[in-house]
Amino acid sequence: MDNQSVSKFESRYRVVILGGGIHGAGVAHDLASRGWRDVLVVEKSIIGSGTSAKSTKLIHGGLRYLQHPRDFPLVAEGLEERALLVKLAPDIVKPLPFIFPVLKKGGMPRFMIKIGLWLYDALSLGRSLGRHSWLNPEDAFREAPILDKSVFKGFYRFFDGQTDDLVLTQRVASSAEKLGATIAEHTEAVAMTHDENGWSITLKQGEKTSVVTTKYVVNALGPWAHEFLNASKIKPKVSGINNQGTHIIVRDLGLRSGLFLQSPEDSRIFFVLPWKGYTLIGTTEDNYDGPADECRPEEHQINYLIERCNRFLSVKLSRADVIQSFSGMRWLAADSKSGLSDTSRSHLITEHLQGTDVMYTIYGGKLTAYRALAKEIAEKIVKSFGDRSESKTHLQEMWAEPKPLAVDLDIPQRFSKL
Ligand SMILES: Cc1cc2nc3c(=O)[nH]c(=O)nc-3n(C[C@H](O)[C@H](O)[C@H](O)COP(=O)(O)OP(=O)(O)OC[C@H]3O[C@@H](n4cnc5c(N)ncnc54)[C@H](O)[C@@H]3O)c2cc1C
Repeated sequence: MDNQSVSKFESRYRVVILGGGIHGAGVAHDLASRGWRDVLVVEKSIIGSGTSAKSTKLIHGGLRYLQHPRDFPLVAEGLEERALLVKLAPDIVKPLPFIFPVLKKGGMPRFMIKIGLWLYDALSLGRSLGRHSWLNPEDAFREAPILDKSVFKGFYRFFDGQTDDLVLTQRVASSAEKLGATIAEHTEAVAMTHDENGWSITLKQGEKTSVVTTKYVVNALGPWAHEFLNASKIKPKVSGINNQGTHIIVRDLGLRSGLFLQSPEDSRIFFVLPWKGYTLIGTTEDNYDGPADECRPEEHQINYLIERCNRFLSVKLSRADVIQSFSGMRWLAADSKSGLSDTSRSHLITEHLQGTDVMYTIYGGKLTAYRALAKEIAEKIVKSFGDRSESKTHLQEMWAEPKPLAVDLDIPQRFSKL
C-alpha cells in the first residue's frame, strides 16, 4: 500500500472487492484468513479515506441505539466485536471512560439513563470494559473540567472503546495483504458488465484503463455504491440514502473522559471526546442527496456543534476555535416508513445473480462490527464455491504488525487531505 505508486494487478481474480473502506478491507482480510489469496481490492484514493476516516472513532455497542428494541442484537454484536478488537489491536482500539450527565432541565430522566446503562452492562456481560456507576461531582469535574455546573444535576460513568478509524482500516488492509490479497490504491472502478467470462470491471489508474474479470464482486463502495451501479446500468435492489454527519476538531479542552451529551430540543445525542491531543466534537445528522465526492461540512452544521457545546460546557467556543472539520456519510438502505434518524444502523447485503456469478452490495454497517459483516459476506462466497474454510480474523496471527501512517495524515492536517 504505497501511497505514491500505481498498484499492479492480474487480469483475473476469483473475488474483486470495490472500495477500500473498513468493509472492503474487512472482506479481503476475512477471505485471505481462509486461504483465499486470489482477491483484489480496488480503492480510488488511499485505503480508509472515505467514510471510514470520518467516523466518531468509537468502537462501541452504541448506547443510543438501545432506544429501539429492534436494535438490541446490533448493540450486542457491537459489544462483542468491541471486546475482540481491544484484544486484537490494543495499540489502536482502547477503552475510554465516558460521562453521561443528567440535565437539570429537560432531557432523559435519571431513571431512564440508569435503565439504559444497566442494559448496556447486561449486554456486555463477560466482555465488559467496566460497569457503569454514579459519579460524585468532584470526580466528574476532575475528569471533565469544562462541564457547566449550572446545567447538570448528576453524572453517570460508563465505558466504551475509541480508535483511530483510518489506522484501523489500514491495519485490516495490510493484514489482508500480508495473507496474500492484492490491494490496489489509486485505482477507480469505472463500470462493470457481465458475459461468459463473468463480471468485467473497467479500472482507471490515472490515464491508464484496464479490465479485470471475476466470478464474485463485492460492492463495498459505501456512499458511492449506487453511483457505480448507475454507471454500469445495473438497477439497485433497494433504494439507499446518505445521511451526512459532521465533526469539528478544537484544541485540547482538558477532558480525561468522553462526554455523552443530549440536546433535548431536537432529541439528538452528541459527543465531546479527547482524541490524539485534541477535542473531537460531533455529530450532526442531515439528509444528503448530492454527489458523494462533494459532501463537505456546512457552516450551519459547524455552528450547530459550537452552539450545543457552548450551552453545556463552561468553555465558550467560537468559529475561530475550529481547527478542522470533516463530514462523512452514513449509507443506509432507505426505510420509507421511518424518519431519517430512525433508520436502523443494521446492515443489509443485496445480491445480483448472473448464473453462479454474484455481486454483493453492502448497505449500512458500523466500523465496530465490520468483522462480523465481512465474515457474513465471505461465508456466502466460499459456500457458493463449495468451500468449507473458516474465518480466522479473530486470531492474532492473522493480523499485520503496526505501520506508521504517512506524516501528512497526522492530526489535524489529515482532514484537509482526505
Ligand atoms: C458521521 C459518522 C460517524 C460514524 N461513527 C461511527 C462510530 O463512532 N463507530 C462505528 O462503529 N461506526 C461509525 N460510523 C459508521 C462507519 O463509519 C461506517 O459504517 C463505515 O466506515 C463504512 O465503511 P465502508 O467501507 O462501507 O465505506 P467507506 O469507508 O466509505 O469505503 C468506501 C470506499 O470506496 C472508495 N470508492 C468510491 N468510489 C470508488 C470507485 N469508483 N472505485 C474505487 N473505490 C471507490 C472510497 O474512496 C471509499 O474509500 C459512522 C458513520 C458516520 C457517517
